[in-house]
Amino acid sequence: MDLKKIEQEIINCKKCDLYKTRKKPVVGQGSFNAEILFIGEAPGFNEDEQGKPFVGAAGKIFDKLLEHISLSRDEIYITNILKCRPPHNRNPSNEEIKSCTPHLLKQIEVINPKIICCLGNFSTKFIMEKFDLTKEIKGISIIHGKIFNISNLNGKLKIIPMFHPAVATYNMNKLDILKKDFDILKEESKKN
Ligand code: URA
Repeated sequence: MDLKKIEQEIINCKKCDLYKTRKKPVVGQGSFNAEILFIGEAPGFNEDEQGKPFVGAAGKIFDKLLEHISLSRDEIYITNILKCRPPHNRNPSNEEIKSCTPHLLKQIEVINPKIICCLGNFSTKFIMEKFDLTKEIKGISIIHGKIFNISNLNGKLKIIPMFHPAVATYNMNKLDILKKDFDILKEESKKN
């Protein structure tokens, strides 16, 4: 399995009804060898138009945060829990998450990142459950910026939950919190 094949599977996917209303699926973007994988929630209006992740208002904040730690989009990989936009940007349903996340799990397997950075509650809950951290799940305002160490068959993995960048579009205090969490991410990425 490689990322190009996964991309084709996503383009052809009809496992939930979102393919009927989406314009473009948003597979993900960045380096296939990335050490840091960011996982957001779902495409919004702009992402659906362009087929690229985080290109709207939340994307501008995300780019600021990457710049804050001197990283570019070419050095990381960014994707979402859902690959297709839910109508009116509503929350992903449990069924949609169940249908869509096999794509994400394949992406994780192929990229094999050292750090998974979960942006927001949906991504944090899904990833922490997958990696047997269910007991540690708390609201994002409690566990943001914390590092969860995992040892699995592929080696070591760190999971870092963070606020979703969209929160900083209407609350500037959150931008400072996100910047501090990105500082933590940068420090962790230097360790092996
Ligand atoms: N919000 C997300 O979670 N993902 C995107 O791609 C855009 C906005």
